[in-house]
Amino acid sequence: MFERHDRIGGLLMYGIPNMKLDKRTVQRRIDLMAAAGVEFVTNAFVGGSPELAAGDGPKAKSIRYIDPAPLREEYDALLLATGATVPRDLPIPGRELNGIYSAMTFLHGNTKALLDAEYADSFTPPISAAGKDVIVIGGGDTGTDCIGTSLRHGCRSMVNFELLDKPPAERAANNPWPTWPKILRTDYGHQEAAAKFGDDPRQFAILSKKFLDDGNGNVAGIETIRIDWSQPADSAPFSEIPGTEQTYPAQLVLLAMGFLGPEQAIIEQFKLPTDKRSNVQAEYGKYATEAEGIFAAGDCRRGQSLVVWAIAEGRGAAHAIDAYLMGSSDLPAPDVPLEMPAAV
Ligand SMILES: Cc1cc2nc3c(=O)[nH]c(=O)nc-3n(C[C@H](O)[C@H](O)[C@H](O)COP(=O)(O)OP(=O)(O)OC[C@H]3O[C@@H](n4cnc5c(N)ncnc54)[C@H](O)[C@@H]3O)c2cc1C
Repeated sequence: MFERHDRIGGLLMYGIPNMKLDKRTVQRRIDLMAAAGVEFVTNAFVGGSPELAAGDGPKAKSIRYIDPAPLREEYDALLLATGATVPRDLPIPGRELNGIYSAMTFLHGNTKALLDAEYADSFTPPISAAGKDVIVIGGGDTGTDCIGTSLRHGCRSMVNFELLDKPPAERAANNPWPTWPKILRTDYGHQEAAAKFGDDPRQFAILSKKFLDDGNGNVAGIETIRIDWSQPADSAPFSEIPGTEQTYPAQLVLLAMGFLGPEQAIIEQFKLPTDKRSNVQAEYGKYATEAEGIFAAGDCRRGQSLVVWAIAEGRGAAHAIDAYLMGSSDLPAPDVPLEMPAAV
């Protein structure tokens, strides 16, 4: 397994914060796999380049850039499990100011510093929220993890912007069982912020218009306006409500507005077709791409999802690759029915 970062585990290691998923648990599983014979090669960026590393990519000096083409000759089968890591950006005026980061830059650096300091009580994250007014833009799980992490750094205040309306406490009439209940969910970050500052940090139906400069190229705040989803405008599915302009102070802004899909470089280098959402095209349950011997599983195949799906797809892909190499497979796979013993 080639991994471009310095530790194995993907988002389970460097995305989900330690207080939510203890990295010792993740490492224990990795050690078991290593003991079972899996060879892990870290700091190995397949199809990467120094230019690609300049963005949100890894910046370690020890990084090795691996040409993907020879891998097809060297190995009988390849599995792409590269995740869906391209963050959605917010290209409004002032985006270039210092102090505005993607959630993953913030969370990755925080966990790396914690692990490098061997879980010491005090460690120095490369981006610290200590003493700052923090605004997290985006109301999903990643945003919650940014809130929880900022609180642990000791932020001065916390506000969380969400573009959508506040969901109802109970299912709406147009959202019956068994559809996914679109109701207000209060996660650990929201509860902790409310406990510390007295209020739920979330502001719903709010649009960020402009990042403000402190005069030295650092972010000082955000200009916002409230929006009305019941009145679509020509240019957007909502309209801005005149007179609701407001300025929020911030010295740290974290962008957690979801992910657009997998990084395309390695997909293009292998000339793999993608679906409408830019994910690698490979049928669920089969995991084979159009290219002979190349398989895809997890977030790079289905888009940003959940750990249970990543594990299920990994096991399914192992079964599919075993069958491809050996003609058949006894490996258990969640999407391939196992032969059940006859009922007694
Ligand atoms: C902040 C955050 C919090 C989350 N919280 C939860 C949660 O609480 N519960 C839950 O179920 N899910 C959660 N998720 C989602 C979950 O983490 C992912 O769905 C899951 O990790 C996907 O697994 P994956 O193996 O497909 O991809 P990833 O975990 O993204 O792993 C992909 C790996 O491939 C490496 N890679 C990519 N390209 C290359 C390359 N060219 N060469 C070498 N290596 C490469 C990456 O560095 C990465 O380590 C969260 C996600 C985020 C971002």
